Amino acid sequence: MKSEISNNPLSSLSNTDRMPVLFLGHGSPMNAIEENEFVAAFRQLGKELAKPYAILCVSAHWETKGTFVTAMQNPRTIHDFGGFPKALYEVQYATSGNPELASAIKQLITKTDVGLDMEWGLDHGTWSVVKHLFPNADVPVLQLSIDYSKPAQFHYELAKELSILRSKGILIIGSGNMVHNLGLVAWNKLEEKSYAYDWATEANNKMKAYILNNDYQKLIEYQLQGESFKLSIPTPEHYLPLIYAQALKEEDEQITLFNDKIVGGSLSMTSLKIMPNLLA
Ligand code: ZN
Repeated sequence: MKSEISNNPLSSLSNTDRMPVLFLGHGSPMNAIEENEFVAAFRQLGKELAKPYAILCVSAHWETKGTFVTAMQNPRTIHDFGGFPKALYEVQYATSGNPELASAIKQLITKTDVGLDMEWGLDHGTWSVVKHLFPNADVPVLQLSIDYSKPAQFHYELAKELSILRSKGILIIGSGNMVHNLGLVAWNKLEEKSYAYDWATEANNKMKAYILNNDYQKLIEYQLQGESFKLSIPTPEHYLPLIYAQALKEEDEQITLFNDKIVGGSLSMTSLKIMPNLLA
């Protein structure tokens, strides 16, 4: 008898319409519990999305040597920040993981050997935004780590290998901030609506143009894009989740920008939704 065992690690999952891909500017951890225009937009987005089978989030706040996927049944809520009000430390986003899906994702990725992680959980890059999308915590959430030793091109190619997940009901989210320079935040201007340094506005505008024109190479070669990019991306961890999202865009898809504002001078909340072009 011929063996019926399939080599496709995702064969047990049924096919769905292609899920959107999101890049979400998460900003301050306080967005988890504050009411503002940004979280209102996340909530609205959550209402518009079909309920996913699971979420795979690439968060700026999980950097590792090597690539890992969370594989525990019950990921803990990690409060990976300091100096915030008690209420923020009390937030629990008690959703499940999906160990079988983690194993399947490990098999799916050929670019590098992916480790199954049993220690991490959900950091605030993930839960501070996903809790607004799915407040009932009824969608399993996995995280994929960012290998800090690898260049943007590596992340772009790795992200492309995740493409099939979209047709298996899995919502892929990159969570970071396109413009993110904490060292230069104008703390006294945080309450002022849309206070932005000129270089932050310039970089945000250039990034948007590259995104909307599918100019992937410029986004990947962010270190060659001049002074405004250097100031906006002093370290790449908040930028690289954008590369994951952009890499997953198919030719027939459109990009919708939202929360396109800069806060505190040096942080952009600019977010995007990538989805099949309904008018095509
Ligand atoms: Zn962050």
